[in-house]
Amino acid sequence: MIYKLADLQRTARSNRYAIPHLLGGNLEMTHGEIRAAEALDSPIALGLAPEVFASVPMEIAFPMILNAAERATVPVAVQLEHGKSHAQIARALRLGVGSVMFDGSDLPFEENVARTREIVMMAHAFDACVEAELGSVGGSALRGGTADPTGYTTDPDLVLDFIASTGVDSLAISFGNVHGRYRGEPTIDLELVARIAAITDTPLVMHGGSGLPDDVYPAIVAAGISNVHFYTGIAMHAWEALKERIGDDDRHPPYHEVVAHAVDFFEGQTRHVIGLLGSAGRASDFVRLPAQQASHG
Ligand SMILES: [Zn+2]
Repeated sequence: MIYKLADLQRTARSNRYAIPHLLGGNLEMTHGEIRAAEALDSPIALGLAPEVFASVPMEIAFPMILNAAERATVPVAVQLEHGKSHAQIARALRLGVGSVMFDGSDLPFEENVARTREIVMMAHAFDACVEAELGSVGGSALRGGTADPTGYTTDPDLVLDFIASTGVDSLAISFGNVHGRYRGEPTIDLELVARIAAITDTPLVMHGGSGLPDDVYPAIVAAGISNVHFYTGIAMHAWEALKERIGDDDRHPPYHEVVAHAVDFFEGQTRHVIGLLGSAGRASDFVRLPAQQASHG
């Protein structure tokens, strides 16, 4: 069943766990990730980011992800991540995507506000929810893509103004988290997260969730993060895992066997992050009454 991401985030926040957010970059990822969520009875979010569109156009990927999400026995949010333009976000909304992100983190504050507000007006007209970013989570999951590894942290003094001026449903914040691989020792500022969480009920989102010690995640959730994005840490071992499963001697495995191993791999990785965020067994938090279905679709 499909839910809006902000609805999942709000419930996670009030129950002190976080929604695992994974890339629904292809069929193997999507199917394996949903299978893990169903096995552990966890709500989950599947994202698609513009970096993926070169290999899988959103017009092909989103209908596939939405179909898998609709058939899932647990709540699944489907989000366009890091939407960069009005036109790109409009295309996702037209495909029926109910959760979108506008990433204006590289814009000056006033321009980020103005453009986010426009996106919010459009998306809300489609009954979709919007995440925006204040501060800038640096780094990149692309090969060699660490041109701006640091980003800059979210200024807590701008948070209330940003939320009130834009009408955004959830907020990605920067507190030492980085996309892709960390260079050197990560410095996660949990006090900043707690300070921002103390001044707003708007759900807070962490991008760049990969690569931290397992025991940091419960502290991040306790500080006030309700949704954590994983990609690099999930996918970086996929190729070696597939090679290991197939074995060096088998040069010509039937491709559907490779796909089946990939589904198993992503299921296993997703089970692990569900464990880190405390969302296992929480799908029943989202039992819908028939009357609510229209507004949550
Ligand atoms: Zn991200």
